[in-house]
Amino acid sequence: MEGYINTFDILVLAPHPDDDIIGCGGSIIQHLAAGQQVLIAYLTSGEANGSAAEREKEAVAATDILTQTAGAACVLGRWFCHMKDGAVQAQAVADMLRGLKLSSDQVVYAPHLYDGHGDHKAVAKAAVTARGYARFKVYMYEVWTPLQEVNHFVDITSLALRKVESIRRHQSQLQGRVLPGREFDVAAMALARFRGVAAGCKYAEAFWRLG
Ligand SMILES: [Zn+2]
Repeated sequence: MEGYINTFDILVLAPHPDDDIIGCGGSIIQHLAAGQQVLIAYLTSGEANGSAAEREKEAVAATDILTQTAGAACVLGRWFCHMKDGAVQAQAVADMLRGLKLSSDQVVYAPHLYDGHGDHKAVAKAAVTARGYARFKVYMYEVWTPLQEVNHFVDITSLALRKVESIRRHQSQLQGRVLPGREFDVAAMALARFRGVAAGCKYAEAFWRLG
């Protein structure tokens, strides 16, 4: 992983397994298909809503859908950082980002600053702080708190079915054991459809872009 960490083009910061897919799963497929290397950093393993081992396995299965869709030659790394679910510290994430020595050619995906989940907000703040060290581009994605303002859309119409299939690999979150009755897959695609209307396509992912 050490060597790989220095070569990726795209870094996706996922506070929990499944945030990556919900927030920017379609965009990740497009980066991979374009030949860009993607590293997904799972800051926690989501142990507040299931077992860490199970959720890491689900993250691998879900991202396998992305790589299968993008093509055999694509490169996607998964990095499980094992911070504590529910107690992610912005400074710790900012320090981690500083250690990666990011360049202005690299792109970071992170939740947005007004996300209602404390871990998501901490990661968003860390991305902003770390831009004080290096002017990488940041795309802030939405999970369960929609953005109030959007300045970047990605048309994922042709990838929507793959995205929903990927979300469904997070079975522990869908089966209602921990959060009964929450249809994450349906909800995420409903938001993508809503964004599609604004973007002039069927399904879209929406972002707030910094820099
Ligand atoms: Zn999350």
